[in-house]
Amino acid sequence: MTIDLKGSGMTSQRARDRLIQRLVKEGIQHPEVLAVMRDTPRHIFIAEALASRAYDDVSLPIGFGQTISQPYIVAKMTELLLARGRLNKVLEIGTGCGYQTAVLAQLVDHVYSVERIRELQKTAKDTIWALKLKNIRFYHGDGSLGWPEQAPFDGILAAAAPESVPNALLEQLAPNGVMVIPIGASGKQVLHRITRTGNSYDVENFGGVEFVPFITDKR
Ligand code: SAH
Repeated sequence: MTIDLKGSGMTSQRARDRLIQRLVKEGIQHPEVLAVMRDTPRHIFIAEALASRAYDDVSLPIGFGQTISQPYIVAKMTELLLARGRLNKVLEIGTGCGYQTAVLAQLVDHVYSVERIRELQKTAKDTIWALKLKNIRFYHGDGSLGWPEQAPFDGILAAAAPESVPNALLEQLAPNGVMVIPIGASGKQVLHRITRTGNSYDVENFGGVEFVPFITDKR
């Protein structure tokens, strides 16, 4: 497989620059988030047939009924996660195609990314390998259990929406840790930021969103 990192035409640097201008207009302010998204080729994370739409601000299918998150949502969630400064260890639930993973890896020290669909995880690993990002560890399994061996985490970001936050994720958040997660049934999801303060959790609400469901495997 050859991966065209640079892109041309609809996938060129100019297309990425236009997307960044649009994100700024939509209210994204974090300079490092914008810089990393300007430099990260999104087109290599999706099927070639869809690559011409890679820098539109839309979610796109990545197979197995899943979607690559809309760029605005990736920017917003990352900005919310990093609002209080750089983080060391971040757990991501739902690697999907790996685009959000790649953005995070350029902004935090270590990313731990969990995905339940093995085929998606495999493709994500190959794409991320091409970008030479080395501070990411992947786990295949049910993210509702978190990643106990690597906990606690300074940040947790979920790219799929559970109806309520799995307890393991709350428990694996470090003191002062921050979790950004969509919560709710399909059609009624709300983006939340949950900050751990001692033994309580401070919950903020950032409005309606649309994510694929967070699937908890039967145990
Ligand atoms: N940020 C990703 C989002 C992919 S969609 C991207 O832009 O590509 C959400 C992903 O979460 C899907 O790949 C889905 O398989 C995964 N997912 C859903 N529930 C999960 C769970 N309980 N554990 C791990 N991954 C899960």
